[in-house]
Amino acid sequence: MPESPYPASLDLDPAWTADTVAVQAGRPARVPGAPMNPPLTLSTTYVHDARLEYGREGNAGWAALEAALGALDGGHAVTFASGLAAATAIAELVPPQGTVALSSVTYYGVRNVLERLAAQGRLRLRMAPADDPAAFLAAAEGADLVWVESIANPLMVVADVPAIAAGARERGAISVVDATFATPLRQCPLGLGADLVLHSATKFIGGHSDLLLGAVVCRDAAHADALATYRHDHGAVPGDLEAFLALRGLRTLAVRLDRAEASAVELARRLSSHPHVATVHYPGLPGDPQHERAARVLPRGSGPMLSFEVAGTGEQTEAVLARLRLVTHATSLGGVESLIERRARYAGDAAIVGPTLCRLSVGIENVEDLWADLDGALRAVLG
Ligand code: PLP
Repeated sequence: MPESPYPASLDLDPAWTADTVAVQAGRPARVPGAPMNPPLTLSTTYVHDARLEYGREGNAGWAALEAALGALDGGHAVTFASGLAAATAIAELVPPQGTVALSSVTYYGVRNVLERLAAQGRLRLRMAPADDPAAFLAAAEGADLVWVESIANPLMVVADVPAIAAGARERGAISVVDATFATPLRQCPLGLGADLVLHSATKFIGGHSDLLLGAVVCRDAAHADALATYRHDHGAVPGDLEAFLALRGLRTLAVRLDRAEASAVELARRLSSHPHVATVHYPGLPGDPQHERAARVLPRGSGPMLSFEVAGTGEQTEAVLARLRLVTHATSLGGVESLIERRARYAGDAAIVGPTLCRLSVGIENVEDLWADLDGALRAVLG
């Protein structure tokens, strides 16, 4: 790791809440004249030095972001060029011909990576539901790695992280939790017993739909070392500008999440009694099949992601999305602006969702403006 002229401050008060840590962690040490933020180091090479020579080895900006994410999740963080680059690096931890137990509802990009490796004979893949720990752990028998999402895309399935992490440990498997939807402010999987946490910081951590970046936070320093070596050798390094922006995004994560989540609760409640909505999937809603588990493993809240099924056809659903003027019909999630999409557009999700399922990433706009847009478009198309 490069040494910043302003070493990251480590004097975080253990009494501070995660919201405060998100604002303060990874800042330069508070010495006279030090900047508030880590400096950008846009250089690929360094004057010969035993510690750092070339840009793929390290960067002071990554180190600051890693200090912050490590402090929040309680482990050793390694940042990557994207969430998927981080996921690919984790797959490398599986021994040759090893076995991965994967939640049957998983971000399709991750599933693609693991299915391709399975098709090449590099590893064996078993799928099982992460909201049913007994079934999942039966599939995890003899596995080397188990992989679930805190809240899984796009049906908002909540994994029983404590049961799965404990079961994985008993079976000698590494447990991975993709906490992209939960963020470190809604769930700390390492505290619930998991070994690795994956974040696509492209989403809520960055928060403005203007950067790609991934991170893995590891309980064990040896895993972090192996991942950092993979990053160097395969070139899956983040840009320093992206690391700077992700750290800046982290500073406002608590306020963005609180507001967007409060709106998501309200929109989920209103959508669930809307005449043109068949089903709402939101674990924060009492009555949702995931609600009891969410209250246990996501006690601060279920975040700003929800999905709903339009009571109509796939074509009518596309027409509803085309009529929206505030919520943008676009993929991705976690930004300040609300985004919506019909997931059956994607071959990877078409197998697990109906044709009218819309995933909504609630942003920080005024909730009444969001409701007027959604309700207006539904009524305009469906009467
Ligand atoms: N994990 C989840 C849950 C995601 O939704 C995504 C992207 O949508 C990723 C990982 C991959 O992250 P990235 O797009 O930063 O590569």
